[in-house]
Amino acid sequence: MSTIDSLAHAFMKFPGIGTRQAKRFVYFLLAQDPKFVENLAQEIAELKNTITQCPECFRFYPQVGMNAVCGICSADADNSMLLVVEKDTDFDSVRKSASYAGRYFILGGIIPVLDQDPESKIRIHELLKRVEQGASEGLTEIIVALSANPDGDATRDYVIKMLDPLSKKYNIKITALGRGLSTGSELEYADSDTLRNALKNRN
Ligand SMILES: [Zn+2]
Repeated sequence: MSTIDSLAHAFMKFPGIGTRQAKRFVYFLLAQDPKFVENLAQEIAELKNTITQCPECFRFYPQVGMNAVCGICSADADNSMLLVVEKDTDFDSVRKSASYAGRYFILGGIIPVLDQDPESKIRIHELLKRVEQGASEGLTEIIVALSANPDGDATRDYVIKMLDPLSKKYNIKITALGRGLSTGSELEYADSDTLRNALKNRN
């Protein structure tokens, strides 16, 4: 296998990238200045050393100093609310909308409709643990903020079902994003106004 093919195969593992796009990436790199390619390779090589995962919200962030949790989890925020999103890019969209002041949790995946092994797809055990911790810190509401598509719905139903016992035990309200986020739309592509409305109309 040539380097063109093997690199294209690597790019095909990226989310949403097919054969043709993967090849286009490789030819794009071949057309670039050597310095660009060198810098890119170096940044990829350093990624895992400079970026770490927060043990509380599970998002990726640049590690600075010896802080045990990320800047969002250690900052002053509203402990009464916990927003559950699928992935880091969804978290970025909510941050950008500046319409939420509570805590976050990144599920790390989505459960396809009719999936037989949902536990392996998302951080459900970590979420339950986080909610137990939250209960002792004044948590009163969990907002399940997932994309408005079939997989997002399946995941939301599963998460709400799994949270139910803790919700009853600690009297924590569970809500989901309301209208505003139109059917089929993905959270990461939602604009700030839409997100603000969906959060405001949660139910
Ligand atoms: Zn965090």
